[in-house]
Amino acid sequence: MRTISRRGFLAGIAAGAACGGCATAGRMSSARRPNILFIMSDDHAAHAISAYDGRLIQTPHLDRLAKEGCLFTHVFATNAICTPSRASILTGQYSHVNGVPVFNKLDPAKITVAHRMRQAGYYTALIGKWHLGSDPQGFDHWEIFPGQGVYFDPVLYTDEGSKKYVGEHATDVVTRLTIEQLRSRPKDKPFFMMMQHKAPHRPWQPALRHQAVWRQKTIPEPATLFDDYATRTDALREQKQSVAHDLTRQDVKEDVPAGLAGRDRTRWLYQRYMQDYLGCIQGIDESVGLVLDELDAQGLAENTVVIYTSDQGFFLGDHGLYDKRFMYEESLKMPFLLRWPRGVRAGTRQEAMAINCDFAPTFLALAGAEVPAEMQGVSLTPLLGGTIPSDWRKSMYYRYYHDPGDHNTARHYGVRTETHKLIFFDKKEQWECYDLGKDPEELRNIYGDPAAQPAVAALKAELFRLKKQLGDDDRYADPREWPKESSYVKPPAARAPKP
Ligand code: CA
Repeated sequence: MRTISRRGFLAGIAAGAACGGCATAGRMSSARRPNILFIMSDDHAAHAISAYDGRLIQTPHLDRLAKEGCLFTHVFATNAICTPSRASILTGQYSHVNGVPVFNKLDPAKITVAHRMRQAGYYTALIGKWHLGSDPQGFDHWEIFPGQGVYFDPVLYTDEGSKKYVGEHATDVVTRLTIEQLRSRPKDKPFFMMMQHKAPHRPWQPALRHQAVWRQKTIPEPATLFDDYATRTDALREQKQSVAHDLTRQDVKEDVPAGLAGRDRTRWLYQRYMQDYLGCIQGIDESVGLVLDELDAQGLAENTVVIYTSDQGFFLGDHGLYDKRFMYEESLKMPFLLRWPRGVRAGTRQEAMAINCDFAPTFLALAGAEVPAEMQGVSLTPLLGGTIPSDWRKSMYYRYYHDPGDHNTARHYGVRTETHKLIFFDKKEQWECYDLGKDPEELRNIYGDPAAQPAVAALKAELFRLKKQLGDDDRYADPREWPKESSYVKPPAARAPKP
């Protein structure tokens, strides 16, 4: 646990801020606390942002955040699935501590970072996807989708009632409502605003203007689309999240052309999946551009920390898969872009290892508020100068519980270090180990290799050290111990229409 005082943080930033455009130490110490605009999408893999990888799509507005701020390359979800990652972001805690290991409801009595930001004097607001079962707490204003929400004619509700936005697309509605909040917020205090998109979550339905463009495109295939899973454990062979076998007609929106079989059929499915997925991303990129324009128009850009992330990554045909859940890189990795002209040099790249539990401590540190000991993450503010403190974390712990679950993804836990990854599929007691330096695509499981045994032993020791340090006592390993109330329970019909 590391806490950092506001004074210490600002001094650190100033010391690392040699850039001409950044404030001097004197100005920093008297500077107003920054606004925070946290933008999160759902299931957006980093390799579908051109600032990370330009092969699939160009995202000029997202790239602007990287060009004018900091691009983080190693930010990881601790449980790569929607509801648990959202709970970790709000609480700064792992799933086994915050009580949200699967699709279960967040205890509404739980004190989250929203309460603490409000207590610190911030105006707090949340628009869009919540998906934590209970109503949001600690926000001065919120308007959210019930459960997952829908793409077209979306319903959103507040504590006063619900409203159906007929004829509109979810991404456009969330953008507009956020801009309205940016305009109507109280101007006498800083704001902490969360804009949380439904897109690009399955069933990948872009706005028609983006769908029309992307249906004409041919998307490059990933190198591992036809991964044969050699050397891997049973988990990859038994999953039901493959492009070849598990995409439904609802996913691809039309019948597979007659006569297509084998790899040609898989290739067609991949194209249909990715055309719509990337169409959704184009909508997100447009949304980010509009809110950045609004910050410019209000003269807020200089001292507003804008963060863009997603609740986890996603397989874009990588290893022949869609969806997330597995600890492999494409799913584990979260995009994370942070722009703050007053405190961060433009074009910074940060390779330090971060996790979703770090977000809440980061918000609090930016607000000059204390990070409570109950939070298991640490503030990322010491990284904003672009350097890495010598005592920064060099490994992270991961655990996925949802088994039995939607895609028959075997439950597992593991450790990722700067050079290796060790995954334990505990139900069958099977292991996978990867040398990420030599094998970044994670195709060769070296767990049984004689030459790898010193590395495997060290990784096992690190895995169980982290597990113990984080207090993971296996309390949710058995599905009978999962909390019972679902995060899908919110019935919009029970809400009166908004006046
Ligand atoms: Ca998600």
